Amino acid sequence: MDKLIHAMAKEGSVRIIAAETTALVNEAVKNHNTMPTATAAYGRMLTAGAMMGSMLKGEQDSVTVQINGGGISGGILVTGRSEGRVKGYIVNPDADMVHNDLGKLNVSGIIGLDGKLTVITDLGMKEPYVSSVPIYTGEIAEDLAYYYTVSEQTPSAVALGVLVDVDGSVMKSGGFIIQMMPGADEMLADLITYRLEEIPSLTTLLRDGNSILEVLQFIFEDMDLQILTEGTPVLYCDCTRERVEKAFISIGEEELTKLYDENKEEELVCHFCNTKYDFTHEDIGNLLKEIKQD
Ligand SMILES: [Zn+2]
Repeated sequence: MDKLIHAMAKEGSVRIIAAETTALVNEAVKNHNTMPTATAAYGRMLTAGAMMGSMLKGEQDSVTVQINGGGISGGILVTGRSEGRVKGYIVNPDADMVHNDLGKLNVSGIIGLDGKLTVITDLGMKEPYVSSVPIYTGEIAEDLAYYYTVSEQTPSAVALGVLVDVDGSVMKSGGFIIQMMPGADEMLADLITYRLEEIPSLTTLLRDGNSILEVLQFIFEDMDLQILTEGTPVLYCDCTRERVEKAFISIGEEELTKLYDENKEEELVCHFCNTKYDFTHEDIGNLLKEIKQD
C-alpha cells in the first residue's frame, strides 16, 4: 500500500520524508501509456513531487519541478501539493533507452544532460519562488539533492527508485529525502552519507519486500528515528470542463469562428490526467455566444 511518512532522527537534527508510491505511479503510467524508461523517469518525478508537495502547509500551495536536458523524453513536469497530492506529465511517453553495457533503463539518457532542473514554489505570494540548477546526472534523485544543497543551502540526500516489471507495470516505486537541519553535527551528515553508500539501493530494498518504513528503520536503526506523520500520497488533477473552456476560448474569437464555420469538432486533452474534453459544433457555437455577450 502507498505510504507517505514524515519523520526525524537524532532529536530533530535530521528531517526525513519518505514515500512508497507503487499504486500512484501505476495509475499514472496507465493513464499515459508510457514505455519502460519513460515509466521509470516519470515515476521518479511523481514520487519526488508527492514528497516535496507534502512539505507544504497551505492547501493551495504548490511546488512544480521541471527537468529537461534535451533528451528524447522532451522533459517531465510534476506539481506537488500538501498531503502528498501530485500530478505530472512526460512530454514523450514513448521515450525508451537501455544502457548498452548494463542492460538497465537509461533514465539520464532520455532526460539528457544539456539543460536545467527548475523548482517553482508557489506559496500564494505575489510571485512564486523560482530556482534552477544545471542538470547534474540526469538520474533525477542526484539532481534534486544538488538543487537542495546549492539552491536551498540544505545538505540533502535523495533516493528515488522505480522498478519496472517485464509487462511494463510498476513492481515497486518509492523514495526518500533526508535533510540536515541547521546546526546539525557535521559528523552526523558524514555518518548518514557513509551509511547510504553501504546499504543496498532503495530499489533493491523495496524489491526484497521491505516497506518504506522498514527502509527508514534500516538506515536510522541507532539514530533515534521518530515517525511524525503517516499518510497516503495521491495522484490528483484539478482540471475541469470550465477551465478547459477558458483555455479554449483564449485562442480568440476569430479562430473559434473559423472552427465553427468549418463545422469542426475539437477534442482537448488534459496533459496531466489525459482526460478528454469534446467540443461539438454546438458547443463551439455556445462558446462564441458567451464571448459576444461579454
Ligand atoms: Zn486533468
